[in-house]
Amino acid sequence: MQINENIGEVRVSGTIRLAQRARDLAAQGKDVIDLTEGQPHYNTPRHITEAAYQGALAGQTGYTAVAGKPHLRNLIANHINHQNGTDYRIENIVVGCGGKQLIFNALMVSLERGDEVIIPAPYWVSYPEIVKIAHGLPVVVQCLPASGFKITANQLNAAITGKTRWLILNSPGNPTGAVYTKSELEEIATVLRQHPQVSVLSDDIYEVIVYEGAEFTSLTKVAPDLIPRILTISGLSKSYAMTGWRLGYCAGEANFIKQMVKLQGQSTTNASTLSQVGAIAAFEGSQEFLSEWLNDYTGARDLVCKKLSQSDALEVHQPEGAFYLFVGCKKLFGYGDIVNDQDVCNYLLEKALVAVIPGSEFGCQGYFRLCFAKPVEMLDKATDNLIQSVNDLCKRQ
Ligand code: PMP
Ligand code: GLU
Repeated sequence: MQINENIGEVRVSGTIRLAQRARDLAAQGKDVIDLTEGQPHYNTPRHITEAAYQGALAGQTGYTAVAGKPHLRNLIANHINHQNGTDYRIENIVVGCGGKQLIFNALMVSLERGDEVIIPAPYWVSYPEIVKIAHGLPVVVQCLPASGFKITANQLNAAITGKTRWLILNSPGNPTGAVYTKSELEEIATVLRQHPQVSVLSDDIYEVIVYEGAEFTSLTKVAPDLIPRILTISGLSKSYAMTGWRLGYCAGEANFIKQMVKLQGQSTTNASTLSQVGAIAAFEGSQEFLSEWLNDYTGARDLVCKKLSQSDALEVHQPEGAFYLFVGCKKLFGYGDIVNDQDVCNYLLEKALVAVIPGSEFGCQGYFRLCFAKPVEMLDKATDNLIQSVNDLCKRQ
């Protein structure tokens, strides 16, 4: 059967591919520690699952409005308004099957062939590929460790052309955990004011996972005059440990949201009704577990940073948010057969039995990413194995 040129050029998601490889090795009986895919190791809080279960028993098993249950959309509008200083109403909100689908829908309804989308690297693996699927052109801007892996106002200004349609901002960011400060966002807003053709896709999916000393700030709050040009994407995957429920949402200008709903109505229709019932319980229920989880993540982050800093061959950048560590591994190039970060990850999988993802998957050669939303004992063992294998490699020459 024919496969079109466009999809032929799209890469398989690196996070999903490598997570599957780790699962396959585990199925073959290998004792692999899988730190690839980004998802909390917790179960979804019980009251959320219970609500969905009761909802199913009570017959909430049919379709809903394509954009989502009105009550859920109102709850989402309230949450965003409270946090981001917006004034959204139900018509500004669409619920979909995960943040990923909403990013897809937003780019599909907006990009014309050849339109440019600025993507600061390191980036989440799916951004450039979704842009390509929507016939756009990803414009990748390399962000340096010295600027905390964040795009600077000067870099943004230099990257904008007459064909730029979007800037994708992701804070806290995957894969580095970088969090944009208020003043950094103010500088970005100043550049954006000079370029009315550019909108911002603000991916806030890690909004609640921020460590002490850093603070989540939305561009909408810093620059309310730009609200009509900002589209906010988020979801319950990370904050409520609901990755498998596939529940995300998007907020923005009403007519734009209407077009996204039209597209969704011709593809997946509404997000799973039971997931929506669970999401209502998530927003309405106690949020106390979040601070417990955040404590655990802080402990996990400190543990992996401390342990991996023991090796001079690794460069550790402490994340301010999300649950990833982005580790520099260029110093290992030249040892044995290792010439790039993929070789490093293959070596670590073979010798340390730890699965991590090469930085090149995130548009940044010379790093690997690990997810530390895992039990402490697992991280302890994984980091011991990693350090041991790196030391063995360095001793070999
Ligand atoms: N954005 C970022 C930065 C992510 O890491 C993820 C992780 N999957 C998503 C969006 C999409 O998440 P989901 O589709 O599970 O809501
Ligand atoms: N976003 C997560 C990650 O980066 C989950 C996998 C995916 O959807 O890419 O690992």
